[in-house]
Amino acid sequence: FEQSDNVLVAEGLTKFFAGFAAVKDVNLSVRRGSIHALIGPNGAGKTTCFNLLTKTLSPSSGRILFDGDDISALRSSQVARRGLVRSFQISATFPNLTALENVRVALQSRFGAAYHFWRSLTAVAPLNKRAQELLEQVGLADSRNVAAAELSYGKKRALEIATTLALEPIVLLLDEPTAGMGHEDIEPITRLIKAAAVGRTVLLVEHNLSVVSNLCDRITVLQHGQTLAEGSYAEVSGNPAVISAYMGG
Ligand code: ADP
Repeated sequence: FEQSDNVLVAEGLTKFFAGFAAVKDVNLSVRRGSIHALIGPNGAGKTTCFNLLTKTLSPSSGRILFDGDDISALRSSQVARRGLVRSFQISATFPNLTALENVRVALQSRFGAAYHFWRSLTAVAPLNKRAQELLEQVGLADSRNVAAAELSYGKKRALEIATTLALEPIVLLLDEPTAGMGHEDIEPITRLIKAAAVGRTVLLVEHNLSVVSNLCDRITVLQHGQTLAEGSYAEVSGNPAVISAYMGG
């Protein structure tokens, strides 16, 4: 197991808010091809960590390495273009557009100005074909002509993942993908994340521990802005410090 097998690494990541350390000296290694969860009690620093990794926030100190490069000084748009993509960050869905149109817009935004140039020369067909594939991948093929606003909550989240996948992430970051979902939506979204993880790396913040145990190869547990434990689900769930953190100890 070599260092280069880690696609995303945080070293000594620290963030102060007005003198208060929300994240303090966190080391994180996300292995290429893994599904990795960031868990911990409320206020542990998970969201702040996510915001630091995507450069939505600038760290007070520490380094972030993505695919071997130091991205600490880059802006979030630059980080996203390199393939470290967070669901919601780039790909807002448009309520009045259909599912297919939403994915097409995301594909177009990825090709950017080049797309507008080539559009006059090439057909829209390949774009529609790719959009259709992405909808199939997230189980929305039958809903392609439905306006995003009309989709169920679970299907909206699936559409958001499809628009994020349109950006071809190397590492896909998902912030509480099952939040607010009833159990009828949790099983499909779990399957969807597993499918989306094929050939890429997924890092997620997730509260539902049964989702974490079903889905994740590795888990980092945060508490009070610091790393409490890192390992497989079996390893961290058997760790007395983790048990005590979750029991409010
Ligand atoms: P989690 O996502 O694990 O619930 P957060 O990263 O949201 O934790 O928050 C960690 C700590 O940092 C909390 O105590 C929170 O109140 C504090 N915090 C988060 N964002 C800010 C901010 N912008 N300004 C001040 N304090 C913040």
